[in-house]
Amino acid sequence: MKDFGYLAAADVATAVREIRPGAKFLGGGTNLVDLMREGVESPDTVIDISRLPLTGIDTGPDGTVRIGALVRNSDLAAHPMIRARFPMLAQAVLMGASGQLRNMATVGGNLLQRTRCPYFYDGTLPCNKREPGSGCAAIGGFNRMHAILGTSESCIATHPSDMCVALAALDATVEVESVRGTRRIPLLDFHRLPGDTPHVETALEPDELITAVELPANPVAALSRYRKVRDRASYAFALVSVAAALRVEDGRVAAVRLALGGVAAKPWRAVEAERVLTGAPATDAEFDRAAGAELAQAVPQSANGFKIELAKRTITATLRRLAEGTPA
Ligand code: SF4
Repeated sequence: MKDFGYLAAADVATAVREIRPGAKFLGGGTNLVDLMREGVESPDTVIDISRLPLTGIDTGPDGTVRIGALVRNSDLAAHPMIRARFPMLAQAVLMGASGQLRNMATVGGNLLQRTRCPYFYDGTLPCNKREPGSGCAAIGGFNRMHAILGTSESCIATHPSDMCVALAALDATVEVESVRGTRRIPLLDFHRLPGDTPHVETALEPDELITAVELPANPVAALSRYRKVRDRASYAFALVSVAAALRVEDGRVAAVRLALGGVAAKPWRAVEAERVLTGAPATDAEFDRAAGAELAQAVPQSANGFKIELAKRTITATLRRLAEGTPA
């Protein structure tokens, strides 16, 4: 690992004042430290933000929930109000990583997780995300875990977070701070598709610090579920995951929120499936039809075509359970 300077920030103002090109914020360190050990990230300065007062989970007068960027994943998943009002979020966080990692990992860091594409971590092979213009070893390579939606000729990596899939379905907003002040970025605009610049992964400016995530009040969120399909029962990234909320009235879909994980470089809000479902009969046939409409735009790689059918079946199964009134 390359030598680097260390600075512990005492407050947000100091943190955003000290950030500069070549420096990185350090929260829980569960991804950044790995990337530094692998030589993928090599900051000259690490600004430790782990002691900043960003650990609250608070509810505003209009029901909006503000989750501090340094809330640990374990604390978020165990919070009684989150479990009651946003069960898909608590379930998603619990299905990510391991207990030890969840005890360290933060909400802000979870948003900024980088892909687990194996070629991204292997400095001997081409990777446009690690080294722009070098090529993509995953296209035509080992790509069983890779994306089927929103890919480009430059990159087919997936975003690894479970939490972000739930946040995408819940219309979350990311609050960021810099010396220029505070701004809010809709979660759906926060992560970027690869295009021809896969190394640019988010809408975050280099000098901005994530300070919170906000969840708007939405009664349908309480009727939600996160389902994750993976190669083993824990400590594995999603082949496909589904975050869904569903309200059925008189046998028809009155409200639905649907997002997919493991299929794209960003949490994938299933806009087309939601359009098909809204007002439709809450039946398996309609769930299938909506899933098919969403996945019609999928482009398989050499080894991940199975994800298309897997995603359709997981969407239908998740919605069926919700329609039956068995959200958890
Ligand atoms: Fe790199 Fe993306 Fe290709 Fe993986 S899929 S090798 S991250 S460019």
